[in-house]
Amino acid sequence: MVPVIALVGRPNVGKSTLFNRLTKSRDALVAEIAGLTRDRKYGEGKVGDHPFIVIDTGGISGQEEGIDSAMAGQSFQAIQEADIVFFLVDVGAGITAGDRMIADHLRRNGKSAYLVANKIDGKNPDVVLGEFYELGMGEPLPIAAAHNRGISALIDYVMDELHEVEKVEEEETGYYYEDEEGEVEVSHEELDIKGIKIAVVGRPNVGKSTLVNRFLGEERVVVFDEAGTTRDSIYIPYERHGQEYTLIDTAGVRRRKNISEAAEKFSIIKTLQAIQDCNVCILVLDARTGIVEQDLHMLSFVLNSGRALVIAINKWDGMEADAKQRVKDEIDRRFDFLTFADMHFISALHGTGVGHLYESVDQAYESAMAKWQTNMLTTILEDAVSGHQPPIIRGRRPKLRYAHQGGSNPPRIIVHGTMVNELPEDYRRYLANTFRRVLDISGTPVRFEFRQGD
Ligand code: GDP
Repeated sequence: MVPVIALVGRPNVGKSTLFNRLTKSRDALVAEIAGLTRDRKYGEGKVGDHPFIVIDTGGISGQEEGIDSAMAGQSFQAIQEADIVFFLVDVGAGITAGDRMIADHLRRNGKSAYLVANKIDGKNPDVVLGEFYELGMGEPLPIAAAHNRGISALIDYVMDELHEVEKVEEEETGYYYEDEEGEVEVSHEELDIKGIKIAVVGRPNVGKSTLVNRFLGEERVVVFDEAGTTRDSIYIPYERHGQEYTLIDTAGVRRRKNISEAAEKFSIIKTLQAIQDCNVCILVLDARTGIVEQDLHMLSFVLNSGRALVIAINKWDGMEADAKQRVKDEIDRRFDFLTFADMHFISALHGTGVGHLYESVDQAYESAMAKWQTNMLTTILEDAVSGHQPPIIRGRRPKLRYAHQGGSNPPRIIVHGTMVNELPEDYRRYLANTFRRVLDISGTPVRFEFRQGD
């Protein structure tokens, strides 16, 4: 599981600036989910091979009233969701009452927290950092987020702990299995996930729970539930027409009896982790509201993950013909770039279109997991090249020698040859399209890479 870092501190200490720095390596994939998380912003960052999720919060001033107290509530929620916390203070402002309040909260909470002293700019750390020891949060780690200084040192400083979180969560998380006798705890190894792992994702109220219930029907299901916190998803194995599936239930449709109902029903962290962990993602949209910003954020998470994708436009029942046409036009316009994913107009409530949805899921899985021999890929490459030669570049024609598969879910196809780094974009696209067509790939992105060789 991907570790989660929360940024907390008073307003204006520089949390957003640090957030942008930490997430920029991944195109600042940012989601703000209105309503539930008015004031929490999620992004993905990466250092070396290690991804993490960053949560930015609106800030806790220490004098919360009205809307501010809701914002503070969001910050506390973010602390709950996080593995580690960066507590930001402003070196120029010194310690304030708000800082003391946050420090108290973090100490009581027992979360692993680091004191980050921002806006160090040109100042001498030995002189200005001294007073912050008083917060009792250990050594202040100086950065200047606006000038991109101190940030890699900060990440290096916490890297060991991030690794530890990753490892512990993979090795030691308990899972629950429910049978007639009651609850049985199993380890990650014993958690026997079968068949196609499906994640049903979407913003609140699009109909995820309704769809999940439609999938599972009334049959008795065995529930795998990760131990502990609100972040954990439930794994539900089931069978349909002889095919095995495991549903990763982010909607909390089937939750363990002793898990608090107060736990937030919708969680971005759960969604991100379910996307990472699935084979095929079903992104649910709501035909009644049309496509909104949050849907596109959610889509960008899926696209970034490389998982297979099927889109379900839900609540198609009882809509007027002209309203349906408007939704279709909007989808054509806004999803014009999304060529690989099947789209289905469904009613989770009545079950209409759900059978076709499964056809796309099965197909997408098959494409995502397919294994192709090197000589088959090479033949396709040769045919493509003889059909349409690469253009001559500076008097020489690139030679494409062979292709092999580098991985699956998403499939990676690696083309080897000379001058491949100089192949124009439209020629690369021609090759990609040829592979997709001949291999009959649908429902999954494919990553094409080019390797220079003699
Ligand atoms: P979730 O938050 O994404 O899990 O959404 P829910 O499954 O709780 O659904 C939100 C609301 O939309 C509920 O009132 C559902 O009854 C309604 N709903 C879900 N699917 C459909 C559908 O296919 N058609 C219609 N008309 N309403 C639906």
